[in-house]
Amino acid sequence: MMRIARTLAAVAVLAAAFAGAAGAQGAPAEWVFTGGTVWTADSAHPRASAVAVRGGRIVWVGEAKDAAAWTGRATTVIDLRGRMLLPGLHDSHLHPAAGGVELGECLLDADTTRAMLITHIAQCARSGTGWLRGRGWQLPIFPDANPSRTLLDSLVPGRPAYLRSADGHGAWVNSKALALAGITAATPDPPRGRIERDASGRPSGTLRESATGLVARMMPARTWQDYVHGLRRTMALANSLGITSLTDADADTLMLRAYVALDSAHALTTRILATQHTDAAAGASQVPRLIAQRARFTVGHVRATAAKIYADGVIEARTAALLQPYAGTSDRGPTPIPPERMDSLVVALDRAGFQVHVHAIGDRGVRMALDAFAAARAANGARDSRHQIAHLEMIDTLDVPRFAQLGVLADFQPLWAYRDSYIRDLTEPVLGPERSSRLYPIGSVVRAGGTIVGGSDWIVSSMDPLAAIQVAVTRRDPDAPAGPPWLPNEVVTLDRILAAYTIEGARADFQERETGSISVGKAADLVVLDRDLTAIPPADIHRARAVLTMLEGKVVFGDAAKLRAP
Ligand SMILES: [Zn+2]
Repeated sequence: MMRIARTLAAVAVLAAAFAGAAGAQGAPAEWVFTGGTVWTADSAHPRASAVAVRGGRIVWVGEAKDAAAWTGRATTVIDLRGRMLLPGLHDSHLHPAAGGVELGECLLDADTTRAMLITHIAQCARSGTGWLRGRGWQLPIFPDANPSRTLLDSLVPGRPAYLRSADGHGAWVNSKALALAGITAATPDPPRGRIERDASGRPSGTLRESATGLVARMMPARTWQDYVHGLRRTMALANSLGITSLTDADADTLMLRAYVALDSAHALTTRILATQHTDAAAGASQVPRLIAQRARFTVGHVRATAAKIYADGVIEARTAALLQPYAGTSDRGPTPIPPERMDSLVVALDRAGFQVHVHAIGDRGVRMALDAFAAARAANGARDSRHQIAHLEMIDTLDVPRFAQLGVLADFQPLWAYRDSYIRDLTEPVLGPERSSRLYPIGSVVRAGGTIVGGSDWIVSSMDPLAAIQVAVTRRDPDAPAGPPWLPNEVVTLDRILAAYTIEGARADFQERETGSISVGKAADLVVLDRDLTAIPPADIHRARAVLTMLEGKVVFGDAAKLRAP
């Protein structure tokens, strides 16, 4: 009895100490942010005007008039002056390790015309030796998204060249690369891939999906040290955009090793949820290996607790899986994994406690994923699994309510949700008008009670979350914001999309107790934007810039001295 009483007394003293530390009369904070809009993502206390941080944690959230109680001689006071303080942003789907390496190669994303692209490739070809590697050529530049090896031969004559397309689902190669890989007119298409051919049946220079691997395997393999270098670049870019949590949407063992190496060197400036790569052919038999990797690579700020499955490809290359055929064809698109194997893999992953992250773009791919999650629930019982489906270009009307019913998170890339040349020239013609009127149904999922999170799919597209947030609320090209929204039913509110990039992103990572909102006790993962998004026209959101980003109370981007109150 006595021992219990003493223990309880000790607990009470400890609790009182914590209450004191977090109360208005506590010791001064290290940081006080005051004088601006604090958007908290905390439904109990959505807005405030001041925040105090000590020991890497948020210790107080309140109003500017009360901030003096937290301010001492050693406190750094950040005068928000009409700026906006938000929880650090989450990017719930991107490729940080692979993208970081590619940042150092021939990056063609910004070349919007054929002339720009040609000049740029020729310029890349002038430096380096051996393989010319790069990525990002825009599919609409070429008829049928199908560039030729002869054009690339003229730009890169002496070396093999391998240039991935902007969507990552194809590659443009020259004749040297085809020869090194031994690809000829006689080479059959590999399973789940296509070698594009000219009228005479010879390889024409564009490879789709798994066919890219025929050439890619001839290039020097990446090392985990390559990924360490790449990740440093990626994290610096993410921090400069206000991002403090990243979901790697497809991490292999070398990438996992790089994350853990950076963590043990205290060099991670973002939290990482790594979605482990799975092998479609291996099915459920690979789950014990994934469990072992989870144990080995979940440490510090790295969690290897999710697993990736591809349900289909992309619409532009007609590799997305559709319920009804592509317009004018009998082709509904391939699936990289048969539905039965997908079900058994998802059931096994769910039973082992993995979060399953599915790539699905076409309505048949999305349905396959939802069916697999329903199968997991039937086999293992309803649990708080937080599985998610990313991309979601098309969702059949019947499937929209299933996100809420099954507790599956809808991971959208809002930056894609306006009528650009990908939609106009490569999507609408192959889907026809009815299906094209239901693309990127973000608003529909929200209205049906589903939870949305936001991701960039970088390096496939820009990592900038503010441009994506603008498109979610305007459904317009950020650079041509005037005019009516594209598919106005699918617009969402600013509060909703900010929640997707903050607290819902944290929930998607099972980290909502640690981060995702500005709440007392959570880590000080914070971003200061140069303007208040709630006070400017939506067309200006993409002009906002992060000026200070903090992870656990440490500045990872920006110059606090410039924001200091005098
Ligand atoms: Zn992706």
